[in-house]
Amino acid sequence: MDLILDLTFPELASLLKEWNEPDYRALQIWQGLYQHFWKAPEEFTNIPALLRTRLKAELNFAPLIPSTILQSSDRQTIKTLFRLPDGKAIEAVLMRYEKRNTLCISTQVGCAMGCVFCATGQMGFTRHLSSGEIVAQVMHYARLLYDQGEVVTNVVVMGMGEPFHNYDHTLAAIDRLNDPDGYNFGARRFTISTVGLIPAIRKFTSEKRQVNLAISLHAADDTLRASMLPVDKRYPLDELLQACQEYVAATGRRITFEWALVNGVNDTPEQAHLLARKLKGLLCHVNAIPLNPTEGYSGLATTRQHADKFKEVLSLSGIPCTIRLRRGMDIRAGCGQLASKS
Ligand code: SAH
Ligand code: SF4
Repeated sequence: MDLILDLTFPELASLLKEWNEPDYRALQIWQGLYQHFWKAPEEFTNIPALLRTRLKAELNFAPLIPSTILQSSDRQTIKTLFRLPDGKAIEAVLMRYEKRNTLCISTQVGCAMGCVFCATGQMGFTRHLSSGEIVAQVMHYARLLYDQGEVVTNVVVMGMGEPFHNYDHTLAAIDRLNDPDGYNFGARRFTISTVGLIPAIRKFTSEKRQVNLAISLHAADDTLRASMLPVDKRYPLDELLQACQEYVAATGRRITFEWALVNGVNDTPEQAHLLARKLKGLLCHVNAIPLNPTEGYSGLATTRQHADKFKEVLSLSGIPCTIRLRRGMDIRAGCGQLASKS
């Protein structure tokens, strides 16, 4: 059965037209979905019962069934495992600290990119999510927060999967959530993270969106980077950084580089110096995070001393760097720890 959340507004409107409904119905339903967060046809009490019955018979309103919900011991992180209509599963995480409610959402079941330190990469690729399955993760948490008088403040597309490998569905999901007549979630409050698929970065650049872009770098030379991120063989570092330069030049937006600090591997002063040289003059920010443990990778997290030194080398070269705290470790909700075996 088709997912109602897969439909764009024009698609919903034309479907209702085919059903001989008056023009204003589409907006009523759209607002029910994206402003009232109704998740079943029964909740649409402002439309005729007959139409509710037809909607129920012809469209799936609930593509994600929350099946395991874990809360971290500090109660700031919630991870939900969702069952999809075909029985596959994905995870999405809500992180609540200070005044932010940040969602980390998935774009694929598994991932084809095979980054060695990532649990999602270790499970391989199963399939892309549809735009509606991506949207539904946000609506799930939007509803949960709404019931507590709160809202989602940021969405990071950094869960399972490589968003630029599923480019069209990912951007369609963002567009749908962005709709002023619907959920109206500002483009600037989204961040997409990519492992570095250059053609997609160029396409994204040409679309001049307000969405933030983050690039998973993790190493400052191709030998090291290719040993961690197989995709580097296809899209080497200097070409990737060239595409990043073009992005910054075309959009005027700052780009974020992500770096999982692995003890003795990429947290060395040599890597930091090399990175500083490569990023010189680029409007950017380095987000470094101590590696989160995963079953399939034996590398260890950096130490406090190495991380501080890494940051210092970059800072002295004028490159802003933040060392992020690891969150949600006890429920395996950290970066790179999402996988769908519950
Ligand atoms: N596929 C995209 C987005 C999902 S991964 C990408 O790779 O960018 C989100 C971030 O978590 C990426 O920066 C990724 O490199 C990082 N990551 C993966 N495994 C990790 C781990 N074990 N510890 C810390 N960060 C990790
Ligand atoms: Fe895929 Fe990103 Fe994990 Fe690499 S880090 S395997 S691209 S999800």
